[in-house]
Amino acid sequence: MSETIHDLRTQLKDEAENYGAKALGVADLEALSQRYPDALALVPAGFSRAVVTGIRLSDAVLETVEDRPTALYFHNYRQANYQLDRLAFVLADRIQTAGYRSLAIPASQIFARDPMRGQVSHRLLGRAAGLGHIGRSGLLVHPRYGARMRYISVLTDAPLSADVPFEGDCGACRACQAPCPAAAIRDTPETFDLDACYRKLSEFTRIPFVGQHICGVCVKACAGSN
Ligand code: SF4
Ligand code: SF4
Repeated sequence: MSETIHDLRTQLKDEAENYGAKALGVADLEALSQRYPDALALVPAGFSRAVVTGIRLSDAVLETVEDRPTALYFHNYRQANYQLDRLAFVLADRIQTAGYRSLAIPASQIFARDPMRGQVSHRLLGRAAGLGHIGRSGLLVHPRYGARMRYISVLTDAPLSADVPFEGDCGACRACQAPCPAAAIRDTPETFDLDACYRKLSEFTRIPFVGQHICGVCVKACAGSN
């Protein structure tokens, strides 16, 4: 194998930046499973790392969001997901070409209901990869960009060096609580009312030119420090 594992990580980071990524980290999946035993229940076995990378949503688009999603927000959200899925495809191919297994997890795809969940939680993986903390809203909060990011994950058995999980919390901030149209955001991520949020998102699917379970209100409220 011609390239070292360090070279591979550098290549992945460079590729992600070419796609506009603002953050990239590597999560240790064994440590994640010890903390969250159910976290990898829907993915095949044999992966030891997750490469997690994120791109930024548009501040100008989020300014159009008041108490519900707008058509512009839906477009920005969807384009972010397309870009992330393309990026994950390329990263997975890089890893496979280097001789390792790789599995790109879709940016936004429902794999189970009650409770609704994707194949893995990009938020949990992002925290494990050192990219931010889980906020009161349940979103991954990046220290610079807040919750105005979206993420993608590529699982692999490549022995990439893992980053240190992010330790932190929202501190005194409660900026997303009052604007939430479902009153779903409580004091801690553990007490977040997922059912209330989901009911509100179901209402929002009836908004013309949106038609998706999206919102954007707590994303807008969590602007980070930039
Ligand atoms: S997505 Fe909307 S309804 Fe759900 S917690 Fe955020 S602001 Fe509240
Ligand atoms: S807006 Fe404040 S309270 Fe809400 S998730 Fe972000 S940092 Fe936490």
